[in-house]
Amino acid sequence: MSETKAIATPNKTKEILKKYGFSFKKSLGQNFLIDVNTLKNIIHHAGIDEKTGAIEIGPGMGALTEQLAIHSNKVVAFEIDQRLVPILKETLGAYQNVDIVNQDILEADIMQVMKDHFSPGQDVKIVANLPYYITTPILMKLLMDKLPVSSITVMIQKEVAERMAAVPNTKSYGSLSIAVQYYTEARVVMTVPKTVFMPQPNVDSSVLHLELREKPPVIIDDEAFFFELVQASFAQRRKTLRNNLVRFFADDIEKEKMEQLMQDINIDGTRRGESLTIEEFASLANQFFPHTKRNNN
Ligand code: SAM
Repeated sequence: MSETKAIATPNKTKEILKKYGFSFKKSLGQNFLIDVNTLKNIIHHAGIDEKTGAIEIGPGMGALTEQLAIHSNKVVAFEIDQRLVPILKETLGAYQNVDIVNQDILEADIMQVMKDHFSPGQDVKIVANLPYYITTPILMKLLMDKLPVSSITVMIQKEVAERMAAVPNTKSYGSLSIAVQYYTEARVVMTVPKTVFMPQPNVDSSVLHLELREKPPVIIDDEAFFFELVQASFAQRRKTLRNNLVRFFADDIEKEKMEQLMQDINIDGTRRGESLTIEEFASLANQFFPHTKRNNN
């Protein structure tokens, strides 16, 4: 398909808006991409080829879906807004390898949809320009569902992308960085100006690439407790690790015992949570866990 006919141009987008009397719903995070080069860069960073199965979240009018249809083997796109279904039927009419699922991604049984639409063993990647109001819930669902996908490449708010990919001792590093990096290797691969969207969002955007790990980078005795401890460690960023931990786990472990447990693994309680690596959080969680009420053994 020639670029002049692509969906992702200001003129084509305006033409579709007019034809269908479509009005953007801010509440659904509807900021559509109107720049083909940006889309091609996303496809490139996602590592899509003609064998790849692609899952898209929020196709909108089909700007990204079209590029996925051209470059991948098959696309399944989840769109919550019923009004977009007839529009997508027209804009993507030329492509036989696209299926639209009119469903809220947070409610969807993605595993089942994958079984229904892709061949067993096919490499599947998730690619999306996400609705920013639910970026974190969507990504956490995708990761916690442990879907058999190899990577996730998403346009999201710049600041959130930086938090997800952040390393220790930076302002952006926090519990979200640990949660995402427990499941993936995270990299910010592009920063995108507001001008490539219609309407333009109020925030800057980046593309985050998440390569899913085959197994977590650390061995954790109890995942729920690990994430609880990480949250607690960042609860008040200016406080020391010791103070944050005492606040959350004083009912489980006496203060002196806590100090001893930290010393035993060479973690200084006067450090701040933001200086700990995921490996240090893992050994801290494994060290504390046998002494908590959550451990029934
Ligand atoms: N992919 C299109 C593009 O790049 O031009 C549109 C992206 S727009 C930022 C986000 C899209 O997600 C909108 O089409 C919106 O209706 C859809 N959406 C919002 N919430 C959703 C949800 N919970 N499940 C599925 N789609 C959703």
